[in-house]
Amino acid sequence: MDCLFCKIIAGEIPSTKVYEDDKVLAFRDIAPKAPTHILVIPKTHIAGVDDITPENSEIVSHIFEVIAKIAKDEGLSGGYRVVSNIGEDGGQTVRHLHFHILGGKKLSEDMA
Ligand code: 5GP
Ligand code: ZN
Repeated sequence: MDCLFCKIIAGEIPSTKVYEDDKVLAFRDIAPKAPTHILVIPKTHIAGVDDITPENSEIVSHIFEVIAKIAKDEGLSGGYRVVSNIGEDGGQTVRHLHFHILGGKKLSEDMA
């Protein structure tokens, strides 16, 4: 499968790793939109939030536990934002489920 994030998981494309366990990988976004910009992805290929089902949704709660841990480790005590873009209208460019952690500054109030 020609998936950029699966290649990052496989180590075929280098990334700046922030956290890893048997189910999840987190790494720094190559084009950061905030002082802290980290992507958290499942190691199994799920295309996006629109591909979450009762069979694979357990990973999502684990990802959010990991997000809370990373935010603490990164010192985002003032708050942060978690974003997942879905499909073309949502601006998703990589069709492998990922959650952006954005923080380290007062973020824009523009949601859309
Ligand atoms: P999306 O637009 O799908 O929500 O987010 C994809 C994100 O992946 C973008 O923020 C983009 O900067 C990031 N990205 C794209 N290619 C690479 C890469 O090769 N390495 C890293 N670390 N991030 C990437
Ligand atoms: Zn993938």
